[in-house]
Amino acid sequence: MDFFDKIGETLVNAGKDVKEKARDVSEVAKLKIDIHSKEEFVEKQYAALGKSYYEKHNGESECEEAEQFFLISEALEEIERMKAEVLKIQGSAECPKCGAKMPDAATFCSNCGTKLDDMFEE
Ligand SMILES: [Zn+2]
Repeated sequence: MDFFDKIGETLVNAGKDVKEKARDVSEVAKLKIDIHSKEEFVEKQYAALGKSYYEKHNGESECEEAEQFFLISEALEEIERMKAEVLKIQGSAECPKCGAKMPDAATFCSNCGTKLDDMFEE
């Protein structure tokens, strides 16, 4: 094998390495996406499990998670209070078709899509 053949072979091998590395990189990227979505899936299952545990055992004072139960209940109450406040500020029109509550300024029902202006004209 003469000098130029050797150079040629080295270049071909280098090209192969680059291709292989590019494939590795995209494979790793794909795996990372898969890992992330599986982790999200597991988080959702944990959350669902926690919610069903909360609903079953909330109010039992003799349990280890009493403090977390309390924090969740408190947060839920605050969410309801803030939702009520939003309705108070925005007004509370009712969809004549499905009865959903929404801001006075709404032109479409966010629940069933009825155009509210039309209903008033009829
Ligand atoms: Zn509606």
